[in-house]
Amino acid sequence: MHFLRLRLLGFKSFCEHTEFLIEPGLTGVVGPNGCGKSNLVEALRWVMGENSFKNMRATGMDDVIFAGGGSRPARNVAEVGLVLDNSQRSAPAAFNDEDTLEVTRRIEREQGSVYRVNGREVRAKDVQLLFADASTGARSPALVRQGQIGEIIGAKPQARRRVLEEAAGIAGLHSRRHEAELR
Ligand code: ATP
Ligand code: MG
Repeated sequence: MHFLRLRLLGFKSFCEHTEFLIEPGLTGVVGPNGCGKSNLVEALRWVMGENSFKNMRATGMDDVIFAGGGSRPARNVAEVGLVLDNSQRSAPAAFNDEDTLEVTRRIEREQGSVYRVNGREVRAKDVQLLFADASTGARSPALVRQGQIGEIIGAKPQARRRVLEEAAGIAGLHSRRHEAELR
């Protein structure tokens, strides 16, 4: 499942509607310090279900909303959309009837966030599972934070096993088993 487009509105420093096309192959993001490169990667993690604001370098979830800057006032809403190529029909059955899927997450101040897939409201869990099955997601080992290699080397065996399971694409299965056991 390939990413085709990332769309941001009011997310961190991206006050205005901004769209990035993600072409096949390697993509580099370059720019001066503070221009928003890390914010871009955080937007990707956020739309895939990141629920720890600390991992977003924030002190609360509302901090991902554009806080004002320059001559622009703060916004009250942030939205990130990620368009996926589903032509291989690899998405879970509930979403598997279209060639492209747009996953969006929208947050309003003090209202929490809402996820949608192609406009239909879904649970955070559904979005997390969608990406976990595709061996990616907010906590995916495909996204390597600064300092993370050292953390993995120094981690306890259980934590290291989780990283390997996510890399192997079976994290979604464990998550479903856990959900089934709770029922
Ligand atoms: P570096 O090269 O130093 O790593 P970078 O390109 O990764 O820089 P980011 O860390 O993505 O830059 O962006 C930091 C900028 O984003 C700062 O100027 C900060 O003020 C701004 N920023 C972060 N959160 C918000 C917010 N909620 N509203 C407005 N601006 C924000
Ligand atoms: Mg950075």
